[in-house]
Amino acid sequence: MERTLSIIKPDGVSRGIIGEVIKRLENNDISVKAMKMIHMTQPQAEGFYAVHKERPFFESLTAFMTSGPVVVMVLEGDNVISRYRDLMGATNFKEAAEGTIRRDFATDIEKNVVHGSDAPETAAFEIGYFFNSFEIIS
Ligand code: GDP
Repeated sequence: MERTLSIIKPDGVSRGIIGEVIKRLENNDISVKAMKMIHMTQPQAEGFYAVHKERPFFESLTAFMTSGPVVVMVLEGDNVISRYRDLMGATNFKEAAEGTIRRDFATDIEKNVVHGSDAPETAAFEIGYFFNSFEIIS
């Protein structure tokens, strides 16, 4: 069993896609072990995306991620890090495979509906960034 952090980004929340994302998780044997809706502050978003701070899109990305509420979830399942990234699709929705969340709903390389951790180390950091151990169902 593995865990990963998922975020339904502000575009997904404002466009009413929360249920659709969760339905796809449940249809694929991925369990939600923690979930909350938050509206990130600028420092919170900058800390979360600190690895990207030298990238040209950092300012725009953190502004987008603080533009409205997001749903953060801890997901659990076999090989869930890569299986959830497969469900999400490529970062650029134009390159995402058919039937993926981003291909079906993203409108922009930045406004791409969902986030998912990309490795066990980043999953551990990202889960701990938003949840303490008492908030995660064991
Ligand atoms: P991910 O793991 O697929 O989410 O992709 P990355 O970790 O590379 O990038 C993090 C997030 O930054 C992406 O999900 C997008 O929201 C945004 N992003 C990535 N590349 C670009 C870009 O070239 N331009 C802009 N504006 N945003 C980007």
